[in-house]
Amino acid sequence: MEHAPIDEFTKEPRISYFSMEIGLRGDMPTYSGGLGVLAGDTIKSAADLKLPMIAVTNLTKKGYFRQELDIYGRQTEAPDELDPATFMIPLKERVTVYIEEREVLIGAWLYVVRSATGGKIPIIFLDTDLAVNAPQDREITHYLYGGDSVYRLKQEIVLGIGGVRMLDELGFEIKKFHMNEGHSSLLTLELLKRHKKDIEEVWDERLVWDVEKVRSLCVFTTHTPVAAGHDKFPYDLVQATMCEVIPIKAIKEFAGHEHLNLTLLALNLSNFINGVAKRHGEVSKGMFPGYEINAITNGVHSFTWTCNSFKKIYDKYLPGWANEPEIFVRIGRIPDDELWAAHMEAKRQLIDHVNRETQAGMNYDTLTIGFARRATAYKRADLLFTDMDRLARIGEGRLQIIYAGKAHPKDEPGKALIQRIFEIKERLRDKIKIAFLKNYNMDLALKLVSGVDVWLNTPLRPLEASGTSGMKATHNGVPNFSVLDGWWIEGHIEGYTGWAIGPAPDVPADPARDADDLYYKLESAIIPAFYNDKHLWIRIMQNTIGKNAYYFNSHRMMRRYVTEAYIR
Ligand SMILES: *Cc1c(COP(=O)(O)O)cnc(C)c1O
Repeated sequence: MEHAPIDEFTKEPRISYFSMEIGLRGDMPTYSGGLGVLAGDTIKSAADLKLPMIAVTNLTKKGYFRQELDIYGRQTEAPDELDPATFMIPLKERVTVYIEEREVLIGAWLYVVRSATGGKIPIIFLDTDLAVNAPQDREITHYLYGGDSVYRLKQEIVLGIGGVRMLDELGFEIKKFHMNEGHSSLLTLELLKRHKKDIEEVWDERLVWDVEKVRSLCVFTTHTPVAAGHDKFPYDLVQATMCEVIPIKAIKEFAGHEHLNLTLLALNLSNFINGVAKRHGEVSKGMFPGYEINAITNGVHSFTWTCNSFKKIYDKYLPGWANEPEIFVRIGRIPDDELWAAHMEAKRQLIDHVNRETQAGMNYDTLTIGFARRATAYKRADLLFTDMDRLARIGEGRLQIIYAGKAHPKDEPGKALIQRIFEIKERLRDKIKIAFLKNYNMDLALKLVSGVDVWLNTPLRPLEASGTSGMKATHNGVPNFSVLDGWWIEGHIEGYTGWAIGPAPDVPADPARDADDLYYKLESAIIPAFYNDKHLWIRIMQNTIGKNAYYFNSHRMMRRYVTEAYIR
């Protein structure tokens, strides 16, 4: 018999990891941003550590989108086409879900993440673009976060319900179902259906289902610190779209009586729930009283997020660092001049890239600030421009700033933010050089986080659940200058690992003061240290590696998921 490519993975029971997006490489548009990159880093660490994992996601053949910007910073979106055959192996197995009373066939592609340690993690990409399906169903796995709420629900049916069925069809024995955000939580309904108690008639719908069994199988990581961010669907829409699995009456017991709330569903049917940073765990407890919510702070995949010049010095002085980031504790062994030279190599590459792309005329020796993330209002990309005269006075000839970031196609305020940065870029042109690089993706992210001198983050508290780009910066010796939210509350030691913007985490947020503080620290601490005290600057760079990268990596994160969530 022919040996199926999946067979080598079905021999032992596995932890399944479900995510709507998974970002593995810059040239494979299967992600939109932080959530997907975290999923990719999770899987890469699992491969390095040889954990028995299998990941499931949707294919999204047209990607998120490619960002085009005109000279005014007006964004337009083009499909980011993915030909799965370039990266993946088609599998012959098919499963069925019922959507709007049509049979929808789901196919699968296999992508294998291979580690230098010999570890391998299979990823199943679910695909409804099959000739037998109705045209509208073929599109279900085309656009990541595209379409209306019906489209979204269909994608979530394919991912959650179709995903469980596909794992079964492929012959996997699954020990845990880890839901990375609520998008996949319909999987719990499929599990309930499979664990129905053998009783005839009961007065309470909940008694029919072996809830404890399902809970013992499920792990839920929540990422969203605002109630509005959680997927909710009216039940008439659910009834019309998802016409199977378990009765609506039963779904309401677990997912809420008013709407089908995917987060609530996951909360009610998981026995391990966690937020993605200590503060986010606390915020989530406040949002969902009565649930036991843990915190496992995110990390990034050290090897992926370290630039070549730093890989070289780490290999030379800290061998083994990539699979044991704890070795960063010995950062002091790297001579100052070699650390600085590695940084300047990354910086020259970035500045050359910026000048090529934008003709910004930036130079290698000016203090360079980087800011790249989803362009959306709460991230406040323009906080730095609150008082333009003050910024010009502080930064003239001493600062240059590089931006990047996509706005979701429907996020008009986010799009306006990009235009505002373009406007200010022109206005400040003779005083402070500013560049905006289009089409932020993983490749550009690595260039940026390694090539700037300071990584800036200015979210409105408490909306940054964790944030991960700052962790990437620390792997390249780049200190963070950030509002005390998400991971930075845990990673920040003032003037030692970087700098805080605004009030301490235990006092109320004060957005009006944030800009003031930003200018004050730039002028009094960051600019003087950079230009006048290279010795101090290099100590801070060492601390970002020895104290921040040492901890905020996905190897540490995965070891904690294993001991706290998977084995219990
Ligand atoms: C890391 C990364 C993100 C997430 O960064 P945050 O700091 O969490 O906003 C988003 N997009 C890309 C392309 C990334 O590489």
